[in-house]
Amino acid sequence: MRSRARVLVVGVGGLGCPAALTLARAGVGTLGLCDDDEVDVTNLHRQILFTDADVGAHKITAAARALGGIAPAVRIEEHRARLLPSNAVELVRRYDLVVEGSDNFATKFLAADACAIAKTPIVHAAAVRWHGTALAVGPAGGPCYRCLFEDLPEGDAPNCAEAGVVGPMVGVVGALQADLALAMLDGEDVAGTLVTFDGKTDIVRRRRLSPRATCALCGTRSIGRIDHIEEARYYGPQL
Ligand SMILES: [Zn+2]
Repeated sequence: MRSRARVLVVGVGGLGCPAALTLARAGVGTLGLCDDDEVDVTNLHRQILFTDADVGAHKITAAARALGGIAPAVRIEEHRARLLPSNAVELVRRYDLVVEGSDNFATKFLAADACAIAKTPIVHAAAVRWHGTALAVGPAGGPCYRCLFEDLPEGDAPNCAEAGVVGPMVGVVGALQADLALAMLDGEDVAGTLVTFDGKTDIVRRRRLSPRATCALCGTRSIGRIDHIEEARYYGPQL
């Protein structure tokens, strides 16, 4: 039942804003919001929960205020922190589903690993330039994010701030992501579904992934825990 569901939104940015808005309006009972950033004027065109008056405010404060006004019945849990190896498993374990729309690979892989360990289903989403994806991963593991993207990219792969993302793209992809999340909450069998959106042709494609036997997360299961020793896996040896 949606009113009893607890969903954690990791990253309240271009994707997290429309996803959270859709989930709140669809009757999800509790939304956890996780982000450590402030509202920036250069992002307002795609972060649709925020207004000029919110610039400089913590995203979580501004998002909670906006969602409370739009969907007063939704209960908001505020997590003003970055998802880190030290808090990830404990945090995602407290929710029925995670919606991940962060803007960096470290957080994406960390959320994927934490959810697999906690057996919490997760819907990932990403949008760069004119290309968007959403992927639903069930509580049993594969097919998962690491089946699709084996590991963190070598060197400096561009994120959406660097490569650029077209404002309306994230609105569409965030809505597709919320759609997959609601299907999971409603008990539909969508685990392993990958939805891609081409913003130049407006073509949406939907297919089922196959699990990869050599996947470190759901195949060989060589990733079995996350602690401070494992931080290098996400952030490199410098931290
Ligand atoms: Zn996998």
